[in-house]
Amino acid sequence: MNQAPIIVIGAGIAGWTTVREFRKLDAHAPVVLVTADSGDFYAKPTLSNAYAQKRAPYQLVTTPAAKMAETLQVTLLPHARVESFDTAAHSIVVRQDDALQTLTYRQLVLATGAHPIRVPLLGNAADQVRSVNSLDDFAAFHAALGVDATIAASGASKTVLIMGAGLIGCEFANDLVQAGVRVHVADPAPRPLAALLPADAGEQLQTALSELGVQWHFGTSVTALDSSPSGGLLATLADGSTVVADLVLSAIGLRAYTALALSAGLACERGVVVNTHLQTSTPDVFALGDCAQYDSAGQRTLPYVMPVMTAARALAASLAGTPTEVVFPLMPVSIKTPALPLLVAAVHPATQGQWEPEGSEGAWRFMDLSSMQRGFVLAGKSTARRMEMTKLTHA
Ligand SMILES: Cc1cc2nc3c(=O)[nH]c(=O)nc-3n(C[C@H](O)[C@H](O)[C@H](O)COP(=O)(O)OP(=O)(O)OC[C@H]3O[C@@H](n4cnc5c(N)ncnc54)[C@H](O)[C@@H]3O)c2cc1C
Repeated sequence: MNQAPIIVIGAGIAGWTTVREFRKLDAHAPVVLVTADSGDFYAKPTLSNAYAQKRAPYQLVTTPAAKMAETLQVTLLPHARVESFDTAAHSIVVRQDDALQTLTYRQLVLATGAHPIRVPLLGNAADQVRSVNSLDDFAAFHAALGVDATIAASGASKTVLIMGAGLIGCEFANDLVQAGVRVHVADPAPRPLAALLPADAGEQLQTALSELGVQWHFGTSVTALDSSPSGGLLATLADGSTVVADLVLSAIGLRAYTALALSAGLACERGVVVNTHLQTSTPDVFALGDCAQYDSAGQRTLPYVMPVMTAARALAASLAGTPTEVVFPLMPVSIKTPALPLLVAAVHPATQGQWEPEGSEGAWRFMDLSSMQRGFVLAGKSTARRMEMTKLTHA
């Protein structure tokens, strides 16, 4: 068994960063990386600000898969899907090119990410809702929108309806409207980023994006999507209004991908449950990234880049023989809305307290019931106060 490789499933930031950090500590142990996609390395956050920069999907690849594999001395199985694994036999079953093979592992790392949440819609075009959670998704979206969506066949700009005014919905809204696309956003909440921001910060973002031309539909949601008699798609909203759009993009959230882990008998809740050493409920199987639910984060998923990198460093050390706990520092997230740049240090949902304005304009802090600062939001020029506010915040 000790001759068996470490097997990593997934070639996102979690999978590749784990391998890269591991190789800094161990140059020789065999590593196999199995991934359903091409394995090309790209920074996923660029997907929501690439269109306005006129960056084609292939330009987002920072290192091709073969180069990654060669540099990190990894056996890469691209376009290969792990269908199941057996924790007693320490083996996985992989489907690649319609052939099945079984591989044994010394340790197994699940870095399988999350899947977009789908809401059932009525209508004859309900299956045409898109989402962007991978380079392949972005390539399909980019191809459907066209290189220059401001020059549609009719001579008018194209229209995109975004479902969801959360982080990803607002980033796409800003990017597309900046590129000259007509953008509608629908969300049941009363304002953008309602779950993350104090009300006045959300209103400032709403105003900034409205000034660029984003049209909001708050307090409602898309219920049906049909082919429009005039071409394109006709979306019907719960409030009875309609929007005609060329494309509909769903950005209503992601759910950790747990099906594979569940079928192998691993404990899963909001994600694959991992302890402070990133071990799942089964020995020798670890998980990190968007698929994981961390004990170290109060049983939360942390679907952002910085936690992925932090977890990957700790896991690499453990895999290399030094059991290491992951400790997440406060990791504020930049929201890529150039209309109003935002920096958010989110608060654990169970924390009781309230938002209040802090010092300069464009700064808010979340105070808990014992008057401790637990989170903050900085907007516009105030984002320069990142270090100072981070120091004042108790994660
Ligand atoms: C549009 C967008 C913008 C974002 N912007 C930001 C931002 O500004 N800042 C920030 O911090 N975070 C941002 N995020 C979140 C961040 O990008 C993610 O948290 C991070 O990329 C997740 O990486 P991952 O490796 O866990 O998952 P993924 O990138 O989803 O990788 C999962 C991998 O697993 C593979 N896989 C899954 N199942 C199988 C299987 N059965 N067999 C084989 N392979 C499998 C997939 O093919 C894929 O390679 C953004 C996310 C999106 C979608």
